[in-house]
Amino acid sequence: METNPLPYQAGTNENLFGASAQVQAALQQALSQVHAYPQPDAATLRRALASTIGVQAQSVVIGSGSAELISLLVRRFCGTRSGGELLTLTPSYPLYRHEADALGVSCREVPLTSALELDVEALLRQLRPETRLCFLCNPNNPTGTYLRHEQLEHLLAKLPAHVVVAVDEAYIEYATAPDCAKAIELLPQHPNLVVLRTFSKAYGLASLRIGYLAANPALVEQILAIKQPYNVNQLAQVAALAALEDTSFLEQTLVATQTAKAKITDLLRQNGVQTWPSQGNFLYLDAGVPAQDVHDFLLKNHLLTRQVDAHTIRLTVGPDHHQDYLARMLTELLAPARLYPDKPLMAQVLQLGASHTLGQDITTDLEGFVQQAAEITDAEGRTVLAFARALAARNGQDLTNAGNLYASSPGTVDMIAAFNVLVNATPLVTFGHRFANHAILQAIAGKPAVYLLDLGIGSGLQWLHLFELVAALPGKLPTLHLTGIDIPDTQADNPAEKLAQTGLRLAAHAAALGLAFSYTCVATRLEDFDLSNLEINEDQTVIVNAALALHHLHDGLTAMPDQRDRVLRQVLALRPALFTLTEPDTEHNRLDFLPRLRESLRHYHTVFDVLHTLLPADMPERRIIEQEFFGREIANVVAGEGSARVERHERRAAWQNRLRRLGFEAATTSPALANTLQQELHLHPDFTLAPHSAGYTLHWRGTNIIAATAWQPAH
Ligand SMILES: *Cc1c(COP(=O)(O)O)cnc(C)c1O
Repeated sequence: METNPLPYQAGTNENLFGASAQVQAALQQALSQVHAYPQPDAATLRRALASTIGVQAQSVVIGSGSAELISLLVRRFCGTRSGGELLTLTPSYPLYRHEADALGVSCREVPLTSALELDVEALLRQLRPETRLCFLCNPNNPTGTYLRHEQLEHLLAKLPAHVVVAVDEAYIEYATAPDCAKAIELLPQHPNLVVLRTFSKAYGLASLRIGYLAANPALVEQILAIKQPYNVNQLAQVAALAALEDTSFLEQTLVATQTAKAKITDLLRQNGVQTWPSQGNFLYLDAGVPAQDVHDFLLKNHLLTRQVDAHTIRLTVGPDHHQDYLARMLTELLAPARLYPDKPLMAQVLQLGASHTLGQDITTDLEGFVQQAAEITDAEGRTVLAFARALAARNGQDLTNAGNLYASSPGTVDMIAAFNVLVNATPLVTFGHRFANHAILQAIAGKPAVYLLDLGIGSGLQWLHLFELVAALPGKLPTLHLTGIDIPDTQADNPAEKLAQTGLRLAAHAAALGLAFSYTCVATRLEDFDLSNLEINEDQTVIVNAALALHHLHDGLTAMPDQRDRVLRQVLALRPALFTLTEPDTEHNRLDFLPRLRESLRHYHTVFDVLHTLLPADMPERRIIEQEFFGREIANVVAGEGSARVERHERRAAWQNRLRRLGFEAATTSPALANTLQQELHLHPDFTLAPHSAGYTLHWRGTNIIAATAWQPAH
């Protein structure tokens, strides 16, 4: 096998186009002077930089890398004795938190939006009286997204003067967006603003450790006071001066990086790897497969990348010979037969999806494939049947009933019977219900009156179990009010008829248990309703629940206003004692077609494997669960684009980021809950409950399926 001529160091964002030849010449000359101490405070470079960026020399500090300056800022403004707190974004440059941790300083991180952008209002909401320093990375490492000038202006206008804002412009030379924030221009009006820059990236001097900051002279004084005089070695100073003078090298770097970035972006898209427009010399990627697999495969092949989280990778832009190599590696890495070595039909679905994105005609292939898949009753066969029909829908073909043993579609009675099987013979629905109910039971302990709000009540099944838990409590029982919201039944004479019936069934059950219970229902889409219209009494403890309901709301990626954020902000405004949320742990919201296909194939295969293990192959209800309940979902995930896609699941980490950004925090639940759930659900031994900060994720044979979580308004 041909090997890569050079390792591709795409993990640390250095300038892979090298450094200026003039720098090397200047270093040669300076070598004779290594016995002498460097110039204190790098006075010459300081003056040169000041005039380059248009500030006074007293406004500049040179550091041993901007890393040293980050450390000095944290020490100066949040040092242990001051009790000051640090604020930053996530995902962002990890050094800010690292420095805070090293100094025992508390650090709050504000998550970016699903478009990977800063939510200025969310940042302002996170301010505490202790907040002293805020790091904003622009363009942001690792996402490549940027801060708009008006956002920075707005933020600076709103922030109290005692909060120092450090804008880390490590990649600013690469930025081309005309509305990108120009922090240096705002320095004169804002004595609490600091701009950080470095010679490690576009100037190509990472090994020499040199960076700088610019700020108001009074603030600079405070940094100089704690900085060591000889912090920057003379070779670095000489090199930085030479690099600053060689503007043509910088120009070449920027052009070469821009060209390479465009080529790599294309290459990633062709291979079905999601990437976002980046203002830096790096790209942020999500292939819809676990990031660890991507990272390890590339590393084994001498291509070093940075794994950011469980799903994303950061890759530094490199020159041509690296790009060709990257292209070959991606093709190998994402080859359907490598992803599914033992499952040829799954591999074939991915292959059909890839051909479809390349504009090839897959019509005939799909017809044959559906016939073939319909014969196979194992999890793989059932999964690919649903996906082949979904691909057909995307391809404008109707194969809904192709390969269907019963060519008629099931009626309401059959659907209800199938739902009952899903509920009683698998934990896929009850896991979330039971987790939420036990968490709720804990939250309402000792409360006289409880107001339950269910955002998507359906048949209200979850509450039968809660009533039983409540009825078994010792002492005086709380009164329960339940408000059930769900979409109107437009086929019926009375669109709220089903919801009203749900209430009657629940009331009968509550009465049999001796509970004081009342019920209201609202037949509405959540998008059309304002939760502040609900009538809740002062003395009622509010509980809000959403089980497999909120992923239908659109977020800012499809249209503004962001309905997901809007509804959750209204939930927060109710100041609930608990907000319980259950959602499939998979990403069908922000991923483009091919990475989404990989992600959804893995997710639904896991679900179908559960069904295959727990239910007999010839059970008619199982067929309905697979091809109607999940099959419709799959068709929408695969074929739906833009607002037509309503099955917009998000991974647990994405929900967590969203909830934290909006002002929720994880609620603690009893550690005994895992055992209780295990026992109540009679889990098959191949299920595991993985604990996380806000609850549990249900795993099947090592793959995550559903996350049940509990939240409360942040303190
Ligand atoms: C690379 C980088 C730096 C540079 O650190 P140096 O210490 O100057 O090498 C600073 N901030 C961010 C966001 C970076 O990515």
